[in-house]
Amino acid sequence: MSADKERKSGIRLSLIIIIVVFFSVVVSYALSMTIGYTTQKKSLTENTLELNQITANELSRTTETIIQSMQDTLKSASDYISSGQWKQEDLQQQIDFLRGSVPYFNSVVIVNAAGLVTVTSPEALQLKGTTVSSEQSKEALRLRKPLISDPYRASTGRLIIMASYPIYDRDGGYAGFIGGSVYLQEPNVFQKILGQQGVNENGSYYYVVDSRGNLIYHPDASRIGENVSDNAIVKQLLQGKSGQLTVENSRSIKFLAGAAIIPAAGWGIISQTPASVVTESVEEVIAKVVLISAPIMLLVLLIVIFVSHRLSSPLNRLAHLASSLNSGAAQTVRLPDRKHWNYETNELYSAVSEAFRLLDKRAEEFSNQAHTDPLTGLTNRRLMDAIVSRWAEEGVPFAVVMMDLDRFKAVNDTYGHQMGDEVLRFLARHMLEEKGTNDYCCRYGGEEFVFLLPFRTEAQAYEIAEKLRSRIESETSPTGKPVTLSLGISSYPLQASTVEDLFRQADDALYQAKQQGRNRTILYDAAAATVEPE
Ligand code: GH3
Ligand code: MG
Ligand code: MG
Repeated sequence: MSADKERKSGIRLSLIIIIVVFFSVVVSYALSMTIGYTTQKKSLTENTLELNQITANELSRTTETIIQSMQDTLKSASDYISSGQWKQEDLQQQIDFLRGSVPYFNSVVIVNAAGLVTVTSPEALQLKGTTVSSEQSKEALRLRKPLISDPYRASTGRLIIMASYPIYDRDGGYAGFIGGSVYLQEPNVFQKILGQQGVNENGSYYYVVDSRGNLIYHPDASRIGENVSDNAIVKQLLQGKSGQLTVENSRSIKFLAGAAIIPAAGWGIISQTPASVVTESVEEVIAKVVLISAPIMLLVLLIVIFVSHRLSSPLNRLAHLASSLNSGAAQTVRLPDRKHWNYETNELYSAVSEAFRLLDKRAEEFSNQAHTDPLTGLTNRRLMDAIVSRWAEEGVPFAVVMMDLDRFKAVNDTYGHQMGDEVLRFLARHMLEEKGTNDYCCRYGGEEFVFLLPFRTEAQAYEIAEKLRSRIESETSPTGKPVTLSLGISSYPLQASTVEDLFRQADDALYQAKQQGRNRTILYDAAAATVEPE
C-alpha cells in the first residue's frame, strides 16, 4: 500500500519529455513568430515611409510646377499690360480671358502703383476702386517683385493665397502688380490637382503647409488655415528638411509620414499612412502563417507524445521492475527478449537483467542455506516440517522412517566430536543413496535422522529402512569400526491421523527398536504400543 503510493509518486518520464518538448516547441515557435512579426513590421514600415516620401516628392514637383506656371501666366499678363496703352475694357477682357483659360486662379486683380484696384475678374468682386489693405498686397507693392503669399484673410473675408507679378509701364516705371488668388476654402487648383484622391482606402492622405505651418490643403477642408507647426514632421519641414518620420497627428493617431519642400513657395507637402495599416497587414500575415503551421505543430506534438511514450514505456517497465524488487515479486515480471531501438534503454535492460540474475542466484543460495543442514547437506528440520504439513494438507499419503545411531555418545567419547561428525556425514551419504526420486532425507536433530517417503506403504518403508540399516552395519564407518542404527516406522494417514501422532508413533517404534536390542527396524504397532507400560 505504502509501496504502491511510493511507486506512483514523482512525474512520469514521458510527461517530462512531453512538457520539455512542448515548451521548447512553443517557445521557439513564439520566438520565430515574434521575430517574423518584428522584421516584417520593420520592413513594411520602412517601405511605407519610403513610399510616402516618394509621393511627397512627386506632389512637391507637381505643386512646384503649378506655382511656376501661375507665375509664368501672371508674367505674360504683366508683359501684355506693359506693352501698350490699354482701355479699361480691353484689360477687363484680357484678365477675364486669362482666368477662364488657365485653371489656377479663383480671382485676378490689377492694382496700380498707388495701391488702387483698377480691374478685377470676376468683375462682381466689388473691389474695384478700393485701396488694397492686406499686408500681402502692401508687400507686393513695396518689394516690386514676383511673390507668392502665405494664406491670409482677404478683405472679402476669404482665406486665400495670392501670387503676384509686378507691372512696369513702357518707360520702365513701376505701375503696380497683377495678382491671382486661390480661394483655399472653395474649389481651387490644389483641390483639383492634389485632392483627386482625398483619403485613400487604407487611410493614407496628404496635406500642404505654408512656410509658417498653416494648412493650405487638407482633405478635411474645415481644417484649412489651421496651424499645425507643432506636428513633428511639420517642424522638421519648417527647418527646411525633407524626410521620413513616424508621427502622431492631432488626434493622437500614429502615422508613417514622408515630407518634401516646395521650393518655389517655401511650402511643404506631407504624405502619410496610418501606422495601423502596417500593423494590421503584418498581423494578417502572421495569422495566416499560424493557421498554416498549426496543423504541423499539432503533428509534431503528436509525434513527440508517441516517441516519448515509446521511449519511456520500457524505462517505465524497468522502474516498475525495480520497485517490485521491494515486494519480492521481481521474478514474476519478465524483461523483454527483443532489443529496444534506444541505446540507453538497451544498456539499462542488460544491466537490470544482470542484476536480476545475480539476485535470483543469491536468493536461491539463501533459500538453500535456509533449507539445508550445514553439516550433512540433508534437508533440515524446518523444511521437513513444511513438507510434512503440505503433504498432510494436500492429502498425500506417506511413511516416515525415524532413525538414531546406536551408542553414539561412545563414538564421540572414544574418537572425539569431529569423528562423530564424520560418522553423521557417513550416514547421510548412505541415506541419499537409498532414497528414491521423490523421497527426502532429513536431519531431524543431533544424531537422529528421518526418511520422508511419499506414496509408500509401511512395507515399502520397512524395506528401504532395512536396506539402509544393513548397509550401515556392513560398511566400515569413518571410525574404522562398524556403527549401527535403530529405526522406527509409521505412516500417514493409515496409522496416524495427524502429523503429531505420526512422529510420536515413529518415535515410539524407534524406542522399541532400542529396547529390543538396537540395530533393528520396528514398524509401529498400535496394539503393542497400548500394552507397553512406559
Ligand atoms: P542410544 O543407543 O541410546 O541412542 O545411545 P546414544 O549414546 O546414541 O545416546 P543418545 O542418543 O542419547 O546420545 C546422543 C549423543 O549424540 C549425545 C551427543 O553428544 C551426540 N551428538 C548430538 N549431536 C551431535 C553432533 O552434531 N555431532 C556429534 N559429534 N555428536 C552429536
Ligand atoms: Mg539419540
Ligand atoms: Mg543414539
